[in-house]
Amino acid sequence: MTDGTGARLRLTVLGCSTAAPHPVTPTAGFLVEWDRTAVLLDCGQGVIRNLQRVLDPHDLAGIVIGHMHADHYLDIVGLRYLYPWGEPAPVPLPVHLPPGGRARLDALSKAVSERDGFFDAAFTANEYDPDAELSIGELRLRFVRGRHYVPAWGVVIEAPDGARLAYTGDTGPSASVEAGVRDADLLLVESALWSAAHDDPERGHLTPEEAIELAQRSGARSAVLVHYGPSRKEAIDELCAAAGPWVRPAVDGLTITVRPSAARTRPVDPVSPAPSPSPA
Ligand SMILES: [Zn+2]
Ligand SMILES: [Zn+2]
Repeated sequence: MTDGTGARLRLTVLGCSTAAPHPVTPTAGFLVEWDRTAVLLDCGQGVIRNLQRVLDPHDLAGIVIGHMHADHYLDIVGLRYLYPWGEPAPVPLPVHLPPGGRARLDALSKAVSERDGFFDAAFTANEYDPDAELSIGELRLRFVRGRHYVPAWGVVIEAPDGARLAYTGDTGPSASVEAGVRDADLLLVESALWSAAHDDPERGHLTPEEAIELAQRSGARSAVLVHYGPSRKEAIDELCAAAGPWVRPAVDGLTITVRPSAARTRPVDPVSPAPSPSPA
């Protein structure tokens, strides 16, 4: 069955490791594309060079940052250097920050000591309202509050054909996250811990077992474990294999086409013109 336009929701894993650098893959970064709408979820260190292998970063429709931990946003510093100096970018890149993110970005701008308003000519950086829906091109996004050491959000992205990709972002075990990402066609679920004993008393990450359980309970049709140390890949492979073919660990460069469940499939009008950019 086609959706009329031939477009499909597509994920490319640009980084799936934890905060500690590892040669196998950068930290958090996920490219989500529908037709010509390309959105980068999180931008941890090392992610942009992987993005450049598959897409000119200038062609992004936006970047969405789930929370202001370095492994989820630090590579926007490097990205800034792809934009001109001394004049505004012809098309500034929208960077969607969590509440409180603008002040953190301004502090980062000062910290890198390059020049005043380091990001301003390249990006339009605004905080999203996590209680409101956000539209980027033809994709609709809603936010899911995680259970983390700082305010953090996951995101659910829905495509015009009804396909639904969800990403937990950083979170500990959480019934509200489970409910927020319910019925995803593809769920990216964090699995940063090897053992719950390594977490703070107030939880902020998941073990792979907890990640698989959260995915199962949320009714995800398929799931990918992300945000894990690559040295644990073999053990996570085994856990996923025991859980079934619907779940697997992410690897660098993995691409997945996300199709909507039969119950949610919506036809996409093939004669609808692409939305033209707002003049504002
Ligand atoms: Zn974090
Ligand atoms: Zn993290």
